[in-house]
Amino acid sequence: MQPQKPKNTFLTLVIIALVIAASSMIFSSGQSNSEQVSLNVLAEESKSGVIKSISVSGNRINLELIDGKKQYTYKEDSANIYDLLEKAGVDKQVVASLPISIENTESNAFWQELLVGMIPFLLIVGFFAFMMRSAQSSNNQAMSFGKSKAKLYNSEKQKTTFDDVAGAHEAKEELVEIVDFLKKPEKYVKIGAKIPKGVILVGSPGTGKTLLARAIAGEAEVPFFSISGSEFVEMFVGVGASRVRDLFTKAKRNSPCIIFIDEIDAVGRHRGAGMGGGHDEREQTLNQILTEMDGFETGTTVIVIAATNRPDILDPALLRPGRFDRRVTVGMPDLKSREEILQVHSRNKPLEESVDLAKIAKGTIGFSGADLSNLMNEAAILAAKNNKKKVSMHDIEQSIEKVILGPEKKSKVMSEKEKKLTAYHEVGHALIGHLLPGCDPIHKVSIISRGSAGGVTWSRPDEEKNYVTKSSFEDDLAMALGGYVAEEVFFGETSTGPYSDLQQVAKRAKAMITKFGMSDLGPIAFGSGNDEVFLGKDFGHVRDYSEASAAEIDKRVRETINNAYKRAKEIVLKNKKLMIKISEDLIKQENMNGEEFAKYFKEVKIPKKDK
Ligand code: ADP
Ligand code: MG
Ligand code: ZN
Repeated sequence: MQPQKPKNTFLTLVIIALVIAASSMIFSSGQSNSEQVSLNVLAEESKSGVIKSISVSGNRINLELIDGKKQYTYKEDSANIYDLLEKAGVDKQVVASLPISIENTESNAFWQELLVGMIPFLLIVGFFAFMMRSAQSSNNQAMSFGKSKAKLYNSEKQKTTFDDVAGAHEAKEELVEIVDFLKKPEKYVKIGAKIPKGVILVGSPGTGKTLLARAIAGEAEVPFFSISGSEFVEMFVGVGASRVRDLFTKAKRNSPCIIFIDEIDAVGRHRGAGMGGGHDEREQTLNQILTEMDGFETGTTVIVIAATNRPDILDPALLRPGRFDRRVTVGMPDLKSREEILQVHSRNKPLEESVDLAKIAKGTIGFSGADLSNLMNEAAILAAKNNKKKVSMHDIEQSIEKVILGPEKKSKVMSEKEKKLTAYHEVGHALIGHLLPGCDPIHKVSIISRGSAGGVTWSRPDEEKNYVTKSSFEDDLAMALGGYVAEEVFFGETSTGPYSDLQQVAKRAKAMITKFGMSDLGPIAFGSGNDEVFLGKDFGHVRDYSEASAAEIDKRVRETINNAYKRAKEIVLKNKKLMIKISEDLIKQENMNGEEFAKYFKEVKIPKKDK
């Protein structure tokens, strides 16, 4: 549709020009500041000699008087101005001496008439042309509706390669194999190996699935069609399926090639799981994908790669042999991978000598690749903001805080009373977190609000944790209740502050019992351990356990939380004096880092857990 654009603007220009020309012609004949007079007046003025000039243009006579006034009058077309004036009684000699000029209007008038006459005609033609064009373009749109919007990548520019993907070694290894497959299929076919049809990349958001797919495109040197699952889903029934058909037809024509379906969970959910409108469409789309994947003729090398962060909700039919039977897990980066990812993302950022990426990798447990990339970007922004040429360690550390906790809201006004409440609340968390061995070390306590929270207590693990034990769950619960207990002990009543703390506590306590078997109910996962109601699928039977079990579970949840509460209260009551000291300092300081906080505890013994 691009090439039609100039034509369209040309047409518009022509129309505008015509309108301007027409209006100027119409208005030019009526000079606004001149006054119409009768022929008699003209004659009188001629006699008294006040006329500076007379110009005749067609049947119009324009007069300019010596005092600058302008007048005009009309005569019959055929009449001669000299005769007219004589007939009106002006002396012949006077007439001869008048400064009369006569303009040739013949050709002018012809063109004027022609143009004016053509305007309506041109307008109509223009209008029709315009209508036809828009009709045509909407027609085009309708025609391309069922076409896939897949983007074809094979440009040399800004190519992503496996070098851009740090860490994720296992995933890369598997995918290298697939790239090899596309490059030298004979090698595999000769030995009787079947080429995989579908590969599914599974991993949490931000772990680099899309990045990996782009790297495959860059490495494979074959056409790469990329589409996102959500692009299949449109308002109109049947569009998704026809887009799938179109995509696969294109791909087969370009074999060997790769089709990449990002976020396949948008279409690949359990069939029959949807509720209300829209699910039929998804089912059709999914069915079409399955049909197409089954229908690859031997000899065509089309590999379909899909990515998702919700493999649990995918339709089992998708994962059957012959479809997406290869599953490549892209995990959260470990220490070594984090360092490599940091390196990749500091390639184009000048770093100060003192920057130790290994140390930063250590302090960013739980960061995904996307988080790390975001971190380095924030650090660079911070350095630039302070007009520095290089990114320092301090910039990066500040940014870690920002990435995890959100930016500080220094402008939020807090009354003295609220400040005090926040300080005691946070110190309550921090105190318990510091004293219980199952909690992560305190990294920062602050009463400057972040996001929606009033203040923040930030504890960070020293080392990677893959498992959480029952005792550290219990310690965490006590710590989470520390704010609530502190408010109760020091202010005699609690506020809405602990709202999200309490939610967290309830959720975790329930998970301990229903998912992890951490109660005397035994090693039973209730509700199949699935706490998410996936629309429709388990609607109506959210619980797959009895009312009696539900009551038992509720009882255990309550007990667990109560125990945590008791422990928290005991610790706070025991350390009341210390808490007042820390809290009052925190009110003055607003921020306290882990070391500063730990200094208060020189003399306090860490109590042994009694469980
Ligand atoms: P996903 O698709 O898994 O949600 P993306 O591939 O979109 O994640 O990753 C988002 C961004 O995070 C990437 O563009 C990249 O900058 C960064 N990133 C993620 N993982 C890695 C990695 N392993 N190496 C380098 N950069 C990464
Ligand atoms: Mg993605
Ligand atoms: Zn709290």
